[in-house]
Amino acid sequence: MNLWSPTTLKEILARHNLTLSHGLGQHFLTDFGILAKIVEKAEITKDDAVLEIGPGAGVLTRLLAQAAKYVVAIEIDKKLLPVLAETTGDLGNIVVVNADAREINFDRVMAEQTGGEFGFEGKPYLIVANLPYYATSPLIFKVFEEGYRVSSMTLMMQKEVAERITAKPGSKIYGSLSVVCQYFSEPKIVLKVPRTVFFPPPEVESAVVRFTLKENSLTSEERLRFFQVVRAAFATRRKTIAKSLSGALNLKRNYVEEVLLKVGIKPDLRAEQIPPESFYRLSQLVADGK
Ligand code: SAM
Repeated sequence: MNLWSPTTLKEILARHNLTLSHGLGQHFLTDFGILAKIVEKAEITKDDAVLEIGPGAGVLTRLLAQAAKYVVAIEIDKKLLPVLAETTGDLGNIVVVNADAREINFDRVMAEQTGGEFGFEGKPYLIVANLPYYATSPLIFKVFEEGYRVSSMTLMMQKEVAERITAKPGSKIYGSLSVVCQYFSEPKIVLKVPRTVFFPPPEVESAVVRFTLKENSLTSEERLRFFQVVRAAFATRRKTIAKSLSGALNLKRNYVEEVLLKVGIKPDLRAEQIPPESFYRLSQLVADGK
């Protein structure tokens, strides 16, 4: 079944009496070359479990299932369930879960749906998705903030967001998303994707980012503190890092300046000039001083 053919896709949608929702970011891929490239860049093996966010009509899901051991696909839109049953029902290694991906615990879902093999104490899994663009940042933050057992993510997103994720310190677009992604992973833009390969075409250009997650041994408290400090630092981008942190974390300015100097950060720098690793050291010391 050539699900990626626009004619087939339109025929299926019409038969199920469906119109696509712009609000849910429903722009479906209709280019086999791009789909194959996403699967290739994800480097999936037959031992892997893949979590897909937003399977839509199942076009990517089918290709993922051919490469992986299991695919667990989280789809928010109930109306797509009969479509997915038709397009993926013949493959025995796909489970579709009807849920809002922002609301569920990925490790728990992976453990439940793969017989405990992946998630929690089990093996790490991969995330591969053509994301709904309205939820890109929250979903990426969620993976790192919750510390899920993920080994890599290969994600299609709006090109501007991909550029923010990979931006270097000192760049105007370097922000909290860049810090978090680059601290916890090595993100790389692996593919630029034109609007024309989607049905219906979105208003923006897209890109695929491959995130290779780094090993880390942060406790949940350290992780929490890291996110607090990063958010506080970028809450007021125009202010100096000393002013932003003392204001947002309710700490004395002298104390913050002392800590900044200890980790080698000049207190009059802006958050956008500070590399990801320094944010980690900063968050550790801020914790010690309380
Ligand atoms: N994977 C399909 C493809 O590549 O053609 C569809 C991708 S489309 C860009 C995004 C999909 O995510 C849609 O199917 C949409 O219904 C679903 N979606 C939107 N918000 C979601 C959420 N919060 N949780 C899970 N799925 C969501």
